[in-house]
Amino acid sequence: MEAMLASGIEYTIFFYNPNIHPLKEYELRKEENIRFAEKFGVPFVDADYDRDNWFERAKGMEWSPERGERCTMCFDMRFERTALYAHENGFPVITSSLGISRWKDMKQINDCGVRAAANYPEMMYWEFNWRKGGGSARMIEISKRERFYQQEYCGCIYSLRDTNRHRVATGRERITIGVQYYEPENNK
Ligand code: SF4
Repeated sequence: MEAMLASGIEYTIFFYNPNIHPLKEYELRKEENIRFAEKFGVPFVDADYDRDNWFERAKGMEWSPERGERCTMCFDMRFERTALYAHENGFPVITSSLGISRWKDMKQINDCGVRAAANYPEMMYWEFNWRKGGGSARMIEISKRERFYQQEYCGCIYSLRDTNRHRVATGRERITIGVQYYEPENNK
């Protein structure tokens, strides 16, 4: 968000994440996004939390590993809605912040974005590598400065399950939602 503002790009945030579970985690992430958007006066569109549709589409993929077919479905669903909104509201370009995470497969995300934009001849998906040019380090720097909520799993109930299984297997506590924030002295 900061990088695009610094480049003089006018944009709108479209928050559509029906994958995030439970509701408390969804609200926390959304509120953090709104807080930052308001700080810079960036328009924020709060789309539906239609998690029933997300669970419907995830059927049969409950045990798919992260970066597998369930994630492709999850990205497709969110980009499809984003592209539809962009089409109906006259936005010629869409992109996503998803790829900044080092846990994500950038190609998988970009393929989904391109596929969604291809439904509308006037639209393009902007494939930009947000990790490059110090982007990843900058993300951590801003997170500490803003004391952002620090999500500890990707988002869906299955990623929460799998992260907790891994934590228990490695002798760590289960995730407690809503407690961890980036601290300036925290080197994570
Ligand atoms: S692990 Fe993340 S990207 Fe994959 S389905 Fe769950 S929320 Fe979506």
